[in-house]
Amino acid sequence: MGLACAYELLKQGYAVDLYEKGARLGGMSVAFEFAGLTIERYYHFICRTDYPLFDLLAELQLSDKLHWQNTKMGFFYQGKLYRWGNPWHLLTFPHLDLISKLRYAIHIFVTQRCQDWSALDQLSAIAWLERWVGKKAYAILWDYLFELKFYEHKHTVSAAWIGTRIKRVALSRRSLFTETLGFLEGGSETLLNALQDQVLKLGGHIHLNSPIERVLVEQQQVQGLQVAGHVQLFEGVVSTVPLPYIPRLVPDLPLDLKGKISNIRNAGVACVILKLSSALTENFWLNINDLKMGIPGLIEYSNLYPLPYSIVYAPFYRPHSHPHYQQSDESLIEEVLGYLGNINPQFSRDWVLAAQVSRYEFAQPICTKNFYQQLPPLRTPIAGFLMADTTHYYPEDRSISESVNMGRQLAVEMKAALMDRMS
Ligand SMILES: Cc1cc2nc3c(=O)[nH]c(=O)nc-3n(C[C@H](O)[C@H](O)[C@H](O)COP(=O)(O)OP(=O)(O)OC[C@H]3O[C@@H](n4cnc5c(N)ncnc54)[C@H](O)[C@@H]3O)c2cc1C
Repeated sequence: MGLACAYELLKQGYAVDLYEKGARLGGMSVAFEFAGLTIERYYHFICRTDYPLFDLLAELQLSDKLHWQNTKMGFFYQGKLYRWGNPWHLLTFPHLDLISKLRYAIHIFVTQRCQDWSALDQLSAIAWLERWVGKKAYAILWDYLFELKFYEHKHTVSAAWIGTRIKRVALSRRSLFTETLGFLEGGSETLLNALQDQVLKLGGHIHLNSPIERVLVEQQQVQGLQVAGHVQLFEGVVSTVPLPYIPRLVPDLPLDLKGKISNIRNAGVACVILKLSSALTENFWLNINDLKMGIPGLIEYSNLYPLPYSIVYAPFYRPHSHPHYQQSDESLIEEVLGYLGNINPQFSRDWVLAAQVSRYEFAQPICTKNFYQQLPPLRTPIAGFLMADTTHYYPEDRSISESVNMGRQLAVEMKAALMDRMS
């Protein structure tokens, strides 16, 4: 989001400095070196409705790097792996009656046509899903996913948030029977590198390993930043760091706004990545509802992005209040490896070529009912200070495409804020 915003502002003739805490650009979409492979710390797929991303790729002449793959989905339920994701799989799934299956199909059909999410913003996701598909189908198909992502917060999640997720994936199909997802050749880094090149070419400055310590404010106007103890003067500051960091970085914000930010909860993620010598399944995405397994799903990335070996991600989403939030890397890897034999009885520990864990403290905002009202504004009462994070995509869920979109919107807002300051 920060890169997209910087790029837009530079195109319009502003001077821009971009500060990144880490050693590499990308945040949640950052790549790392993993057993001879440069790969994202967290899996990324692209959907057919990710239009802001497509526009940016075209502008950067990267459209030919976007590839589409027909992908398969699975559902591991009560110890057995089922095919999932098309009407035939639904019809042949043995654990639901015909009426529930019809209700489920109609729900997807209706949701993918929804344009106005304001009514669903006021409903809880669970109540909405139960109303459409019935309590039994909800329990089988959805409950474990909510439980293992949101825990004690699961009943508060907004129906609009889950609705847009359903819609985005449901519309990413070549036909009723074929799901089609996209990936970038070279991963998200292809886009990040191209944006970085453009930012530098347009005269922007990128400062890596440069955590911002404080946004400096006088008389409710931005003066600049404090980075590594040094003061840098700026007329405007756009923050795209996760919102929970903001009250500490900008102590001059009004109390009520800091309170609003602090009221938004997030789940962190600890994501296990495995390199295996053989494919675990044929599925890209595998939903799991099995009380013996503590993960909501497995993502076999190599079934989207062809690779000579299997790459599997296993995300553990946990609110910071979760008793196992600090579970060690070794024990998370051990836990996941313990599950793989359930999924594929042929799995053997000899298949494991490498394993690692990546963590992101604020990985998933918990978008609760009436979330539109809870969202802090992009433009704050401090003149020249704007902020947004993945929370602001609401009702959409996190995606690179939404980051691009929001980056552009922030640039428009910053331009207006700077003009106001001059007038
Ligand atoms: C497990 C997982 C799976 C995902 N799957 C998909 C997917 O399939 N498809 C998809 O499109 N999207 C997916 N996403 C979402 C996507 O990665 C995010 O929407 C996107 O990367 C968000 O980018 P951002 O720039 O808005 O925020 P962030 O990635 O949060 O970036 C914030 C940046 O701020 C930096 N920072 C923090 N504090 C400071 C400071 N004090 N000073 C300077 N810099 C600081 C951070 O280091 C980071 O680089 C996924 C995310 C996760 C975690």
